[in-house]
Amino acid sequence: MSIFKDLGLNEAIISALEELGYEKPTPIQEIAIPQIINSKADLKAFAQTGTGKTAAFSLPILEKIDVNSKNTQAIILSPTRELAIQIARNIEEFSKNIKNFHVLAVYGGADIDKQIKGLKRGSQIVVGTPGRTVDLIKRGRLNLKNVQWLVLDEADEMLNMGFKDELDKVLEATPDTKQTLLFSATFPREVEAIAKNYMTKPVEISAGTKNVGADSVTHEYYLVSDRNRYQALKRIADINPDIYSIVFCRTRRETKDIAEKLIADGYNADALHGDLSQAQRDMVMQKFRNKNLQILVATDVAARGLDVTGLTHIINYKLPDQTENYTHRSGRTGRAGKTGISIALITNKEKGKLRPIERRINKTFEHKQVPGGKEICEKQLYSLIDKVHDIDVNEKDIKDYMPDVYKKLEGLDREELIKRFVSIEFNQFLSYYQNSRDLNGDDSRNKERSSDDSFTRFYINIGKMDDLNPAKLIGVINDNLGKKNAEIGQIEILKSFSFFEIDKNFRDEVLENFKNAEFNNRNIIVEVTTKPKTRSRGKKSFGGGDRNRGGERRSSDGDRNRSDNRGGDRDRNRSNRDRSFSGGGDRRKDSGRRRRD
Ligand code: AMP
Repeated sequence: MSIFKDLGLNEAIISALEELGYEKPTPIQEIAIPQIINSKADLKAFAQTGTGKTAAFSLPILEKIDVNSKNTQAIILSPTRELAIQIARNIEEFSKNIKNFHVLAVYGGADIDKQIKGLKRGSQIVVGTPGRTVDLIKRGRLNLKNVQWLVLDEADEMLNMGFKDELDKVLEATPDTKQTLLFSATFPREVEAIAKNYMTKPVEISAGTKNVGADSVTHEYYLVSDRNRYQALKRIADINPDIYSIVFCRTRRETKDIAEKLIADGYNADALHGDLSQAQRDMVMQKFRNKNLQILVATDVAARGLDVTGLTHIINYKLPDQTENYTHRSGRTGRAGKTGISIALITNKEKGKLRPIERRINKTFEHKQVPGGKEICEKQLYSLIDKVHDIDVNEKDIKDYMPDVYKKLEGLDREELIKRFVSIEFNQFLSYYQNSRDLNGDDSRNKERSSDDSFTRFYINIGKMDDLNPAKLIGVINDNLGKKNAEIGQIEILKSFSFFEIDKNFRDEVLENFKNAEFNNRNIIVEVTTKPKTRSRGKKSFGGGDRNRGGERRSSDGDRNRSDNRGGDRDRNRSNRDRSFSGGGDRRKDSGRRRRD
């Protein structure tokens, strides 16, 4: 194993790397750095996120860049603005001891005039997203005539995102003499075509990690029914009080829904997806990086440029369609010498997706059981005890209060005191998990769920088109019914209308209270309906017996969202939030917790 000095890097760069805590090069850096420093040959590198690829192409360019010239000498293209910003930030760090050097990130969704000003000042390296880069070339603001290095980072992803034309345009704007460095985690036909058409006899390198999952990551799956998927996610979060995780969803809508539900259920979570503005995305990512957020629900594309270390879990709420996306996802944990767990929540139907992934990562998934309430309570209890044990006591500030505190607790012996302190938080956890169901196994194909006679089923004329989701519908019900103790049963959100069940004792009140109700300035219509017992072929009815499997049981589980429907007791909810994220004495997590209070 070599050190950075052996690779031909100068003192200014090495001292910056030392400050960053980079002790030795990663395998891809060990191969790519001397190759790029010593040869003008084009390069095709198999490299995934997390392998240290940014430094692998940036450091040799920095080594060779001419700081006496203000011309743009390197253009780095990346698929997303987040990644472009990240790369530019990394280069800034690597070059902090190099005088007269500038790097600039140019990307869409941000003020172009500011970026033009940055270009005027002169930036030897420009990192850009394809669309904005082409825009600046067309406006005559970005001159690539002096470019010596063209880096295509995450080339597969750029092509996946439909940037083929933009790549062609940038490639055409650069001189033939340049050195092209193509970094990609996968090499499908389209990437090979770019390599063939625009590169001359490229040298191929890979650091032995070509599409293979890192050893530091364990892969697990939980077999659940679709309707239990969300509950299973919550239990996984609950059994891991210190969880720091990205939950991957497949669509923006699903990302929003899951994040909203987690937030409503008191988790320290937020969403990252393409519908957010740049400022909102930056804010969410910053919170997550600072560990003020424990769970980030994201789409693959939105999470691309997010560079975080120390993730404990990657959760595939739903597996991606493309196998290689699984490796992108799971590669975000188990970095920098740490271990991590990549979890897939799957139904029976999705089981077939595991094998192709196993072949690619060269590892097998371990089947895990969704933890039961007792296990979770035990884990939370010990986590609480550890927190009590490890807490730093502020002797100076607490001193004045202690005599009164001792006085108030007079007469309670040590054992009694401990029990009482622990119970403040533990009692509530216990009650949330009382009578909790077993969520393991996907029996949804075998069982036709029968409607429970204790509920009345209602039709409501709002649905997904109105941006309705189960959490919002519960809100609508609670707002209009005004009876927080009315138990809510199955919920089905369909395209333009939905169904919900309420304790039958509240039937008339629901009809009465919804009479003049509105949602997003639309009059709400609520009618009693019935759920057909079996699928009926010819008969059309609102419920459509075949739809009822997707319904979500809100109250039959002892899980915590039971409290949303029943008690509505704010204090209890808040305390529940506190408890869930008490995070074993880690102060950064504590700060996140305070934020929610
Ligand atoms: P990348 O694959 O470029 O996204 O890098 C993944 C992570 O590894 C980033 O957080 C880098 O800061 C970090 N990293 C890259 N190279 C090294 C190194 N040689 N030693 C320690 N950390 C590194």
